[in-house]
Amino acid sequence: MKNFILFLLSACLLVSCGTNKKKAENETLAPVEQKLVALSFDDGPNTSTTVQMLNMLEKHGVKGSFYVIGRNINDSSAVVMKRAFDMGCDIQNHSFSHANMKELSAEEIKDEIQKTTDLIVKYVGVQPTFFRPPFISYNQLMYDNIDLTFISGMGVEDWMPSVTAEERAKRMMDMAADGLIYLLHDMPGNEATVQALDVVIPELKKQGYRFVTVPELFKAKNITPQRNKIYSNILTD
Ligand SMILES: [Zn+2]
Repeated sequence: MKNFILFLLSACLLVSCGTNKKKAENETLAPVEQKLVALSFDDGPNTSTTVQMLNMLEKHGVKGSFYVIGRNINDSSAVVMKRAFDMGCDIQNHSFSHANMKELSAEEIKDEIQKTTDLIVKYVGVQPTFFRPPFISYNQLMYDNIDLTFISGMGVEDWMPSVTAEERAKRMMDMAADGLIYLLHDMPGNEATVQALDVVIPELKKQGYRFVTVPELFKAKNITPQRNKIYSNILTD
């Protein structure tokens, strides 16, 4: 009998310890003001690096925003794009041919946007609402002819093979700030950015950051996207 009472007592202690621990964890997960960042990826979709990127996001339970090039969308790459969308990522417009659009006429600009939008709608079923100018090259004619919110973002030169995964991760950590949009690339062969994220995502989570998509970032911070404006950090731009 004595043993039984002891057993009951220790079982109760165990249960109550477990509950307290859970409570403590919840408290540390709910800071007063939540710091938010958005990961965004250009130049997909493809069946290589885009897939690795999605696997990495899935591994860490986060979402990202994908700015796709229309001419990269075909029946195979569209399957990957649809997977991203089904994971809760958003699919946005990064032009059709990745031209320097400052050199294009109004008609050519509209054509670049419309062809890519049509392909996104065809495969994903949702209209893009954001646009990233190729090479972050833009002018008033583009503002006047593209009915989407312009996004830039902060990059880590991750299009350069000489910038290692470690260096990319370090730069991302150094520039972390509430409201920031990271400008990254899921172009074929860019595994170093995938590797960098394996370090950066858990580190930033530890610092209290939460990862959202670009549209979610605007909503969560209660900021209405403006025309004639391009955003890198939605709180400071
Ligand atoms: Zn690009």
